[in-house]
Amino acid sequence: MTNLYGLIGEKLGHSISKAIHVDLFKRLKIDADYKLFEIEKLELKARFNELKDSGLKGLNVTIPYKVEATNFLDEISEEAKKIGAINTICFRDNKTFGHNTDYFGFAKMLNKNSIEIKGKTIVILGAGGAAKAVIQYLIDSNAKRVILVSRDTSKAAENFKGIEIIDYTQLEYIPAGDVIVNCTPVGMYPNTHNCPVNENNIAKFNAAVDLIYNPYETLFLKIAKKNGLKSVNGLYMLVSQAIYSEELWNDIHVDETIIDEIFNNLKI
Ligand code: NAP
Repeated sequence: MTNLYGLIGEKLGHSISKAIHVDLFKRLKIDADYKLFEIEKLELKARFNELKDSGLKGLNVTIPYKVEATNFLDEISEEAKKIGAINTICFRDNKTFGHNTDYFGFAKMLNKNSIEIKGKTIVILGAGGAAKAVIQYLIDSNAKRVILVSRDTSKAAENFKGIEIIDYTQLEYIPAGDVIVNCTPVGMYPNTHNCPVNENNIAKFNAAVDLIYNPYETLFLKIAKKNGLKSVNGLYMLVSQAIYSEELWNDIHVDETIIDEIFNNLKI
């Protein structure tokens, strides 16, 4: 029987998740399919229950449901509890289990590109859902200083307890740091001429990471490259978090060479 997996989110027109999962199914000869389910905010609970009862084996969760979905689940993994958000659900024995594979995807992307975190000063732009997984990973990896930049510092302080938070004006006064991470959607297709910060603020770092993968090179990364920074986009993170979901759903280990092949095969 063909097992069914899928992605829930509000707007999924841009998603390339299906291509990643279907590629893996083919490579590993797994009899399965992956579907996208666009769900409106008011219908989330009802549609989630429908999908659960329909015999689906697993779901990914994206914007804007990563936090809200935690309320519907029977159990949540340790890393997802610390982060306060999930992006992967396993349906097993009539129970639901939530995980956060963005955390591992981010880790894989940094490792792949030899970006060190231990003892480093890291600036994160945007206090949203993705920043939660990123910041938890940075803390767990013993970063020396983690600074979160938000347009609304009081709201950010409510959601990121114990984190150093500044606004974009204060960012101008932060001296040189090691890594700057864009966790905002600014610069994403179709608004590719936008950049979340000015050139001076990018140039004072050694490496720039953008969670965005469409376009392949955002204006933020173009400016970083021009100024000699190591620059990394979010595509490897996207593939890695998807494959880690598959590992959880199918109780398998996927070799890194397969992750690399799927990554290289993607057309953005
Ligand atoms: P989100 O929850 O909507 O949050 C993004 C944050 O960015 C907001 O909370 C806001 O923070 C800031 N922001 C939003 N619009 C802005 C604007 N016009 N100017 C400046 N700041 C703005 O989204 P998310 O889930 O965190 O995702 C953020 C980005 O990461 C998206 O582009 C998403 O596609 C990408 N992502 C990629 C991966 C991957 O695997 N590569 C995984 C997850 C997410 P403040 O209000 O605090 O300023």
